[in-house]
Amino acid sequence: MEFKLNDEQRLIRKAARDFAFKELEPNAREWEETATFSRDVFTKMGRLDFTGLYVPEEYNGTGVGRLTACLIFEELAKGCFSTAVCLTVHNMVTNLIYQYGSEEQRERWVKPLAAGQQLAAYSLTEADAGSDAAALSASAMKTDGGYVLNGTKLFVTSGGVADVYAVMMRTDSEQKERARGISAFVVEKGAKGFSFGHHEPKMGMNSSPTTELHFNDCFIPDENLLGETGRGFNMALTALNGGRISIGACSVGLAQQALDYALNYAHKRQQFGRPIVSFQGLQFLFADLVTEIEAARLMIYRAAFLMDQGEASVMEAAMAKRLATDTAMRVTTDAVQILGGAGYMKSYPVEMYMRFAKVAQIFEGTNQIQRLVIARELTKYKGGKRPDAY
Ligand SMILES: Cc1cc2nc3c(=O)[nH]c(=O)nc-3n(C[C@H](O)[C@H](O)[C@H](O)COP(=O)(O)OP(=O)(O)OC[C@H]3O[C@@H](n4cnc5c(N)ncnc54)[C@H](O)[C@@H]3O)c2cc1C
Repeated sequence: MEFKLNDEQRLIRKAARDFAFKELEPNAREWEETATFSRDVFTKMGRLDFTGLYVPEEYNGTGVGRLTACLIFEELAKGCFSTAVCLTVHNMVTNLIYQYGSEEQRERWVKPLAAGQQLAAYSLTEADAGSDAAALSASAMKTDGGYVLNGTKLFVTSGGVADVYAVMMRTDSEQKERARGISAFVVEKGAKGFSFGHHEPKMGMNSSPTTELHFNDCFIPDENLLGETGRGFNMALTALNGGRISIGACSVGLAQQALDYALNYAHKRQQFGRPIVSFQGLQFLFADLVTEIEAARLMIYRAAFLMDQGEASVMEAAMAKRLATDTAMRVTTDAVQILGGAGYMKSYPVEMYMRFAKVAQIFEGTNQIQRLVIARELTKYKGGKRPDAY
């Protein structure tokens, strides 16, 4: 399989890079320290056509696809990882509603979301349903003309600041196959009985609000059900499959940014009368880091490319997410080491990069869960080899 970036993709990547270094990077530290979410930045990303990456033009999107989206996420993450992640989730949900929504639902939600006029969030996790998401218990009970929602969802990215929430709820508690008892709904901010917990203080990514969602006899009309009842878990996992590639792309950008910063520092920093970059001990470290970033980047691009071709990519997405996020963790940790004491100080950005990297190994499926997915796909075929294996 071979792919090559075309001129349009190169131009889009440049636009994202320019935006990252003009609008994001100079502010990322302050947003992080003050836990500030910038809606203005989101609106600007809408003007750049970054908010409807998977949906066609007739719904205000660009439909550029996964690979191009990855180029954008990678560049934005160099400037501000939190902003890039917020955008990946927004695009994931916009696509979810586009894929499974009726024509009315597309008109009502996809259009303003893709235009960047509204922001979207995704809610699957609960206190007792994290990696085992099919165990979720927040419920949607059928009533005349709609559903009544009750329960609490956890750790929602852009919680409180988003306008539109894709929420997975249990509609059938009798269903033996747990996953088949889950349905997907769209809930708008402001719905009666729908409220938010506090903005959760975190190790990093503080400019991205993470909150609980509370549903207290919240009525939503039938028109807010997405697709068929009982299919919500399946939709949620399909969305996450793409989301994992996007988180991997953000992680590649973060790793590259950390490497570039450390390399630049190592050229300037003198010890023993020489720039520290001239020590072979550090050169070998740099050689390993740049090699690992390149490997992760290629895996992300390949998984995205396969998804764009409509080919099976569950295993590729899981492998790419696992490798890219572990690489970001390693590179950012080593970047702190390369800066020595300065690396530990908040006046330099690498400690923040390291804190950003940690969460990527956890959300959209922990890296243990990615291994579970990879192993499950790998062992599906007796004889050990998948039909499309090399
Ligand atoms: C900053 C942030 C933002 C988030 N945003 C969202 C969001 O927008 N929407 C949303 O729905 N969720 C979101 N999440 C939730 C996230 O997806 C979950 O935290 C994640 O899936 C892990 O679930 P958990 O925290 O319950 O961990 P647990 O499932 O309790 O896992 C704890 C540990 O056990 C391991 N483990 C669990 N099961 C297995 C197994 N079978 N085999 C091996 N190891 C296992 C895990 O890998 C982990 O190391 C967010 C989380 C964070 C931190």
